[in-house]
Amino acid sequence: MQYCCESMQRHIEYGEFEYHPSHRCICCFFRRRRRNEGYGQRMLNFCPFCGTKLPDNLYNKYPDELEKAVGKDFCDITEDEIPEEFKTDEWWKKRGL
Ligand SMILES: [Zn+2]
Repeated sequence: MQYCCESMQRHIEYGEFEYHPSHRCICCFFRRRRRNEGYGQRMLNFCPFCGTKLPDNLYNKYPDELEKAVGKDFCDITEDEIPEEFKTDEWWKKRGL
């Protein structure tokens, strides 16, 4: 994936933001208000640096497409039945999503 700007790329390289290729989603970490709650994660819809709208994430499409590929209900699919392409960005690129 090409990132929208240098700041975004830097944040992902330094691990401050996390890119999940299989779900096409960028998450950022934030500190919660109360100390003992630790860090939370928030999905980004827009780049906080340049304001570019980020591509829609695939959290809704992923289970459907995985079911079709494996031929089972999503909740019955075990870890080792997940095709390799679903562990990377290959599956949605192939399908033109
Ligand atoms: Zn940006």
